[in-house]
Amino acid sequence: MTDRKAELAANLARVEERISAACAAAGREREEVTLIVVTKTYPASDVRLLAELGVRHVAENRDQEAGPKALVCADLPLTWHFVGQLQTNKVRSVAGYAHLVQSVDRPRLVSALSAAAVKAGRELGCLVQIALDAESGERGERGGAAPEQLAELAGLIEEAPGLWPAGVMTVAPLAGRYAGREQAAFERLVELSSGLRRAHPTATMVSAGMSADLEQAVAAGATHVRVGTAVLGGRPRLG
Ligand SMILES: *Cc1c(COP(=O)(O)O)cnc(C)c1O
Repeated sequence: MTDRKAELAANLARVEERISAACAAAGREREEVTLIVVTKTYPASDVRLLAELGVRHVAENRDQEAGPKALVCADLPLTWHFVGQLQTNKVRSVAGYAHLVQSVDRPRLVSALSAAAVKAGRELGCLVQIALDAESGERGERGGAAPEQLAELAGLIEEAPGLWPAGVMTVAPLAGRYAGREQAAFERLVELSSGLRRAHPTATMVSAGMSADLEQAVAAGATHVRVGTAVLGGRPRLG
């Protein structure tokens, strides 16, 4: 094993241990939680090593970086998640490699993704990104729709050719009533998810929790955690 592969294997083992412990503490089965490794800022060679180590879900947040990486990793058995703020002029590219887009937060993005998915002959799972600190009718600092917009956006996704509603995603807010209360924030997301699933049974994913707060996400009921630095190491700058 190369040094890097050994390092990634050790980091993955530690993260796996954390997820297992969090599941046990919450009385959940380990299988209820899927690890998505966020590979942003790290090279395609790391993605390849992660696949060799058994990782099956990876996430990226910038199309400029993700597109070329996904292309050279096209032979790997990976599901690609797009988790970054997405401009409509990038959707054509993203629809070419992403299986799931976790950052859907406005009607215009739904129509653009739908057109791109149809053109590419692909079916894209869409998660509505919820900004738990956004005022009604506005978007959050780091993207995301206000909770009040969830039903409308999910309805648009359900109706849109080439798209299907896959669930909800959030990033723990830094401001507002949930600042510093990650678990409460994630519990709110799970509550929103329950309502969503009644209307859209395919929307089962609850994507919450990163390196620093994956335990709180698992405790709250997240189905997917998005972990970057705890697997790959500290990023030179925030991606
Ligand atoms: C970078 C990123 C993550 C991973 O964050 P870490 O702190 O490195 O684990 C998760 N979700 C989103 C949306 C991200 O941009």
